[in-house]
Amino acid sequence: MERVLVSACLLGARVRYHGGDARAQHDALDRWLAEGRVVALCPEVAGGLSTPRPPAEIVERGSRLRVLTNESRDVTGAFERGAAIAAHAVQEHGIRIAVLKDGSPSCGSSRIYDGTFSGRAVAGDGVTAARLRSLGVRIFNEMELDQAAAYLAHLEEPPTLRDNREISCSPLSP
Ligand code: SF4
Repeated sequence: MERVLVSACLLGARVRYHGGDARAQHDALDRWLAEGRVVALCPEVAGGLSTPRPPAEIVERGSRLRVLTNESRDVTGAFERGAAIAAHAVQEHGIRIAVLKDGSPSCGSSRIYDGTFSGRAVAGDGVTAARLRSLGVRIFNEMELDQAAAYLAHLEEPPTLRDNREISCSPLSP
């Protein structure tokens, strides 16, 4: 059975920086929970940060990643630890799909805040999302649960069905 990594706050865990959750209501999440395929993780808490905690943003990325709180405390190490724990979970369970809370400096996958604490969002990945993507995990956010469910169904199709469809979708040879 395919497992799905899900941001813990989307499941109702009160682990966000302000002490609340970001519970997402969707049949797919309920079904995955009932099937026992959900691996819940909050990378920031797993990395050693407390809840509540000051908001943090990525202020530099690439080879010199830096994540600071709005009080200029460097929390890069905790973010990197959380990403490493997520990567370990993915490898341990053979996870190929994740649903992560968008906008977060850890879990964001289409947008994150720009590092100026001005509320301006830019396109980009959070620290954990980037790490998982580099491992080949397909990432969806909480607005993309329909697409995530369709992708999971695709992953679980018997190989012959999938192969036949891929063949029938290939361009015809001359
Ligand atoms: Fe949710 Fe991810 Fe932030 Fe944890 S790090 S509160 S799981 S968005």
